[in-house]
Amino acid sequence: MQTSPQPAVNAAPPIPSAAHRQACPQCDLLLAHIEPESGNRARCPRCGCVLASSSDSPVTTTLLLCLTGIILYFPTILSPVLSMDILWMKQSGTILESVIGLFRADYRMVSLAVLLMVVVFPALLLTSLGLVSLAIKLRRVSHSTARLFRLALALEEWTMVDVFLVGVLVMIFKMTGTAEIEFGGGFLACLALALTLISLSTICDHRLFWRHIASHNHASSPDWMPAPLKPASLMPQPSALTAAEAGLVLCPACHQLQKPAAACKRCGGPLHQRHGNIARCWALLITATLLLVPANALPIMEVESLGQASSSTIIDGILYFFQDGDYIIGMIIFVASVLVPIVKIAALATLLITAQGWHPAMLREKAALYRFISFIGRWSMLDIFVIALLNAMVHFGVLSSVRVAPAATWFCLVVATTMLATHFFDPRLMWDAANGPKDHEYLH
Ligand SMILES: [Zn+2]
Ligand SMILES: [Zn+2]
Repeated sequence: MQTSPQPAVNAAPPIPSAAHRQACPQCDLLLAHIEPESGNRARCPRCGCVLASSSDSPVTTTLLLCLTGIILYFPTILSPVLSMDILWMKQSGTILESVIGLFRADYRMVSLAVLLMVVVFPALLLTSLGLVSLAIKLRRVSHSTARLFRLALALEEWTMVDVFLVGVLVMIFKMTGTAEIEFGGGFLACLALALTLISLSTICDHRLFWRHIASHNHASSPDWMPAPLKPASLMPQPSALTAAEAGLVLCPACHQLQKPAAACKRCGGPLHQRHGNIARCWALLITATLLLVPANALPIMEVESLGQASSSTIIDGILYFFQDGDYIIGMIIFVASVLVPIVKIAALATLLITAQGWHPAMLREKAALYRFISFIGRWSMLDIFVIALLNAMVHFGVLSSVRVAPAATWFCLVVATTMLATHFFDPRLMWDAANGPKDHEYLH
């Protein structure tokens, strides 16, 4: 544990005296306020969700990482990621060229998805988080700082530089033997940017940031803070009160516990006792299931090799790797493109059924399942990134050419609908259903 004093500007403002409790964001259990020691995590005793983790990293570290990321961003998207040689012909491609290639091939939705997830969202994330850190360092925090920080947190899930990087590695395995491959400056920059973004998500201490923002936004004024509960109510027992039962609501963005209102007093985000809408989740899930059919039945890629044209589905691409003996790459694509969407749909259906009051057992395991599918969902974009790169780079005439095919659009829609269904699902509804009908009053 680090005990050395921090510079004054990096030290967290004191916790307001009334804010000595919190609620679990995934099961709504009311708990005593927990401040874990550096490097430790506090977990909810009921559902196992991480309530708080303390990295003990000062705001300066986040600011420096954001600046590093912004410097790395431009070579990542503008420099060639790879170059390929087949006989006397050489091709190289950048991330931006892969976006433009998809657009020119009339796959505008796929092009937009790659543009947003690999080009636009990383830039927005680094800029917004950098500006928030700078505002805290310069003591220029305003209401727009809270909005910017909410934006940065929302973008984390949809920023996919790490998935894209694995896509580049898969493409290298795919083309080894067909072409001579050289790494470009864009690859190294992409690797460094992915590592920077992973470090940022680990190091940036959300609670510290919110406390800095709150201390400047007069949010710690006692008029909206809930009155203290009796100590017995704070004990983490299965029968303990939920925040809803105590007449309190947890902000989904900044996790501040407060009295019900239209907007959070600390970050300005919308406040709902439960954000989940079961009907909307079912609609998205059924849509995703229907979209899986064309996504798997139609070709996702058209290949021309030595004058012979052929098209391949997702499964054909996986079998190609297995036939070539590349079992690890074959398994990675199989897990990302086939297993993850199916597991996600089946798991979400189970969670939705539980939230509707059927079979309200094994809730702790189901809560872990929810966290698992929230984590893995974004990795389904892997195959789309591989095909976007192949479409942009493999243009060697009759020797070898790759073009994107219709299933790419359907598969992108599968990933988007399953990610949105997970996003709109509120796991607290499962615990409400298990606790009986008295908790459902706010749903009507
Ligand atoms: Zn919990
Ligand atoms: Zn909030």
